[in-house]
Amino acid sequence: MFRAFLKVADRCGHCGEALHHQRADDAPAYFVIAIVGHIVVPLALALEIAMSPPYLVQFLIWVPVTLIASLVLLQPIKGAIIGWQWAHRMHGFETEGRPAPAVVKRNHPDIHP
Ligand SMILES: [Zn+2]
Repeated sequence: MFRAFLKVADRCGHCGEALHHQRADDAPAYFVIAIVGHIVVPLALALEIAMSPPYLVQFLIWVPVTLIASLVLLQPIKGAIIGWQWAHRMHGFETEGRPAPAVVKRNHPDIHP
């Protein structure tokens, strides 16, 4: 799905589905900020309450954790958002004249005839 870290390939390498019209835009970053923030902030506060380490120690722990967690999560979340758009036929994934995606067709034949 990706041809570089966050560059989406024009087509799926497995099935050839066109991906160039995906519109993930800033959504992956928003989700990553929300998720990483909800992990790092409580942990930093818990550490502060439990041990009150110097601020430099807090900085040296949480900045790398935040950076690494963000980099680890960005690509899978972007892939999930594009998959969501595909499943809901958003942003160019509409399929005029094409059969419904196999997974949708199999699970909901009445909704997507
Ligand atoms: Zn595919």
